[in-house]
Amino acid sequence: MLTGTNDGAGHATAGGASSPEPSGDLFRVELLGTTPGRVAYRVDGHEVSVAAPAVPLTASGDAEVALGLLPALKTGRPLSVDLGISPRLGQGVGRLQEVLATWLDLPPVPVHADTAEPPGGRVAGVGCFFSGGVDSFHSALRRRDEITHLIFVRGFDIPVDDDVLGAQAAQHAREAADALGKELVEVTTDLRRYPLLDKKWEFTHGAALAAVAHSLSGVVGKVYVPASRTYNDARPWGSHPLTDPLWSGDAVDLVHDGADATRVEKIGFLAREDVAARHLRVCWENRDGRFNCSQCEKCTRTMVALRAHGVLDRFTTFSGELDLRRLRSSTPRARAQEAFTRQTLRQLESTGADPELESALRWQLRLGPARRVVGRTSRRIRHRLTRR
Ligand SMILES: [Zn+2]
Repeated sequence: MLTGTNDGAGHATAGGASSPEPSGDLFRVELLGTTPGRVAYRVDGHEVSVAAPAVPLTASGDAEVALGLLPALKTGRPLSVDLGISPRLGQGVGRLQEVLATWLDLPPVPVHADTAEPPGGRVAGVGCFFSGGVDSFHSALRRRDEITHLIFVRGFDIPVDDDVLGAQAAQHAREAADALGKELVEVTTDLRRYPLLDKKWEFTHGAALAAVAHSLSGVVGKVYVPASRTYNDARPWGSHPLTDPLWSGDAVDLVHDGADATRVEKIGFLAREDVAARHLRVCWENRDGRFNCSQCEKCTRTMVALRAHGVLDRFTTFSGELDLRRLRSSTPRARAQEAFTRQTLRQLESTGADPELESALRWQLRLGPARRVVGRTSRRIRHRLTRR
């Protein structure tokens, strides 16, 4: 039984005790098979796979732990994996459980696994997860001297069966990798079809990224995971500065990157980069099937920051003008969005280059709190009326 240590003889232990034989209702993760370009696992009876036709893929116990640990915690069953896990993950998994179990308010579960040194050691390649968004462009560009591979995944934010958006995003990722002189690793995975990994994706996506990274241990020995929040506003989340490094194994090191920069600072950094101007992708709503719909909150927020830097017209994956009237009357929905607006406003005030945009953002900040109170009150009234 493994909760964070191993006995150094290849068998996992808990608190220095020898592992008892696994018994009872185990949460099992087992290798189903490997074929060129595809590894398939059975996770508690559900088949999931990671495919990347152009590169060698590795089946590993480290990937199995990444696939099974959170679902095992959620179901309260001991995790059992059939492949050996690397000593480093064996050390990290106990700490990982301390963090995850605290966030989810669940007790840790025993982990039944043997430990084994990865046969090939650690390869020299350095990867970076690359969706084409602000965070991934920021990491890919500032680490460009070190990074050798960009890793583009279909099946995470882009549904595995969305062929249109998947093809568009992949083409942009290929062109961006070409422009940067990096290899693009194109991965497709159906692991979100497994309900326990898909549900609460905000908590499980870090483990899913780790499972993909470990599957690529024949290609990259270190993988950057671009941060979506700063150290100041990091909160329990699938990819987090505390947990990402704890998913590391002896064959693949996972590094949380970019939590030292705000989104406004990252966009300021990208504003000077032609490759980002041609290929940036931020939209999750894709209204009317558009790559960046240029209408949703995330598109609008990014367009505001690009315009504040005077480069919106160069960023060709956005279309149309920013609607300042609509912007003035919109309400930042969360504190992070309000902080983003304040930071952008400060940037505008420092240059004085766009008084119209400055004015629209000031209106938004002035009216936002009042609108939120009105919205909350009317929701409460509606709720009371519908309960009667
Ligand atoms: Zn959009």
